[in-house]
Amino acid sequence: MPTRSARPKPARRSPLVGGGRAAGGRSGRSRYRRIVLKISGEGFCQPGGFGLDGETINRIAAEIDTVARLGVQVAVVVGGGNFLRGASLAEDSDIHPASAHYMGMLATVINALALQETLEAHGRVTRVQSAIPIAPVCEPFIRRRCISHLEKGRIVILGAGTGRPFVTTDSAAALAAVELGADVLLKATKVDGVYSADPMKDRSAKRYGALTYNQVINDRLKVMDVSAIDMCQQHGVPIVVFSLMKPGNMRRAVLGEPVGTTIDE
Ligand code: UDP
Repeated sequence: MPTRSARPKPARRSPLVGGGRAAGGRSGRSRYRRIVLKISGEGFCQPGGFGLDGETINRIAAEIDTVARLGVQVAVVVGGGNFLRGASLAEDSDIHPASAHYMGMLATVINALALQETLEAHGRVTRVQSAIPIAPVCEPFIRRRCISHLEKGRIVILGAGTGRPFVTTDSAAALAAVELGADVLLKATKVDGVYSADPMKDRSAKRYGALTYNQVINDRLKVMDVSAIDMCQQHGVPIVVFSLMKPGNMRRAVLGEPVGTTIDE
């Protein structure tokens, strides 16, 4: 059994992916060939708001469009926190936690469909794949089919997380990055990186430019579920955490410019 301190195996890239060189575009050169982009529910509503906000989704879709124009293959994992998070719903109600988590997963499918429509309004070809099959509205997640879409330049939006309760879409994003052989997991949030403490509460909180997986796990830094960090570490997938709120950040992250915090070995 590999231990956390053991040297991770090199990332296993999909056998369906040829070459290995980064893709290039007219207006820059992507550092990566294939990315998994995690957009939390905050990317779908006004700051501190609820549900869907057309203007906000449009802005995010425009950023994703800019990134896709660089020629990089893009799979997007969407969160659902703008509607509900299973753990808090279960705590505040008589709803069984498992059901509350399933409801959270369904919320992510709403976001996936909203992003799909908006990206298509920007002229992108997209597919939604859900870990919980919902036949009339989207495809089920099928790894090889997903990779085939990506290779054809389609943006694949992955909904319903892992399809199982008690975890979050961060775990789904880590799994997707490993399964799809992505070169990086880009986590877009409302904060501009990883801090030593909550910057909203502690003014002395320091932002890290780079961290190792072990630092994140051992110092219990609030980035993602520990299992998601562990998954990325075991499979050598670097993580970049950056702010969704700053226009152009997503493109900068894909170009490999220093934005937010990079986590790797
Ligand atoms: N969820 C789940 N399993 C998964 C992914 C998500 O049970 O594999 C549920 C969980 O309750 C979570 C909610 O869906 O709180 C919404 O996802 P998340 O909290 O990750 O959304 P985000 O914080 O990224 O907006």
